[in-house]
Amino acid sequence: MKPIPYGRQHITDEDIKSVVEVLRSDFLTQGPRVPEFEQAFAEYCGSEYAVAVSNGTAALHLCALALGVGPGDIVITTPITFVASANGFRYCGAEIMFCDIDPQTKLMDADKLEQILAADTTGRIKGIVPVDFAGLPVDTEKFRALADKYGLWIVEDACHAPGAYFTDSRGEIIYSGSNRYSDLTVFSFHPVKHIAAGEGGMITTNNPELYNKLTSLRSHGITKNPDLMSKNDGGWYYEMTELGYNYRLTDIQAALGTSQLKRLEESINRRNEIAAFYNSAFSVNDRIVTSSFYEGVRNAFHLYVVEVPERNELYEYLHKNHILAQVHYIPVHRMPYYGKQGYKEGDFPCAENYYKKCLSLPMFPALTDAEIGHIIEKVFNFY
Ligand SMILES: *Cc1c(COP(=O)(O)O)cnc(C)c1O
Repeated sequence: MKPIPYGRQHITDEDIKSVVEVLRSDFLTQGPRVPEFEQAFAEYCGSEYAVAVSNGTAALHLCALALGVGPGDIVITTPITFVASANGFRYCGAEIMFCDIDPQTKLMDADKLEQILAADTTGRIKGIVPVDFAGLPVDTEKFRALADKYGLWIVEDACHAPGAYFTDSRGEIIYSGSNRYSDLTVFSFHPVKHIAAGEGGMITTNNPELYNKLTSLRSHGITKNPDLMSKNDGGWYYEMTELGYNYRLTDIQAALGTSQLKRLEESINRRNEIAAFYNSAFSVNDRIVTSSFYEGVRNAFHLYVVEVPERNELYEYLHKNHILAQVHYIPVHRMPYYGKQGYKEGDFPCAENYYKKCLSLPMFPALTDAEIGHIIEKVFNFY
């Protein structure tokens, strides 16, 4: 049997057709497909603006730059995330502080965050980066209240959660990336995520100043906008007004992303179906803690995580049986690089305790019912 990965892309003939169209067109990059993708994505999320970039990490870095993050600033994120959530702000010299997770949701714990903010004497905490881990959206309404109280910005890392939503205290449905409560939201289009573009990322915002800053920084800090230039020598003329990067997405990638976005709803529904299937199968074994469903919340289920005391043995057993379960994540503060900043074992006990037990089982829309049955059978064989 072919190994089953924990996640993988789903490419249709329609996707291939839209990429081939670009290859036959005039523009492979800086053409019409990028703004098309941005507009479709902004509309999907319910945000004013979207800025397509080369990957999710570049998206985080651009957010840090646009917000003016620099040395001496402190940025708070969760230990249970991919390292990029922290690194994007480190690139600008910020110190990374972590806030432990809620052991139930595995998301940054708003109560613990409040304790950190209330106890802060440095005055250097500038912003928070909550992560919609595994596809479960953070309650950004709660975080907004704290951010407003302490004068912070919020960058929501929704790389796991396009299409996820929660219901706020007024009964309004709040989509990840709508920026109803966040300043900026970032997404990734790595093939293991919901929308595959090869590599790719997106930032959404409702703030026009941040939007202008992001589009400038994405492409060398160069502008051709007459209003923003000191003079105009002619049609060829442009000015570089700040130090930017080449973090552009290509039209080839944008075409694939746009085509994939059309199937996002369908793919989230399938992911929820798979999660419910796993949950019901594993409910008979009380050693397996499964993912919870929450009222008024749509989980985008980037990952399907179980928590088991015998995680290492189950990982080995499944791999021997060609089921490539994975661990998400090694807590970021336990990475040797962040250890050098002074973090150590025991600093964030909920995250560390979760890490000892977590295992991501295969979760992707193209997973067949037969494969799911096979995975469940192997887990039961192990027990
Ligand atoms: C994938 C991911 C990123 C980085 O995205 P890339 O496109 O791989 O650079 C950032 N944060 C989280 C939570 C991710 O899962």
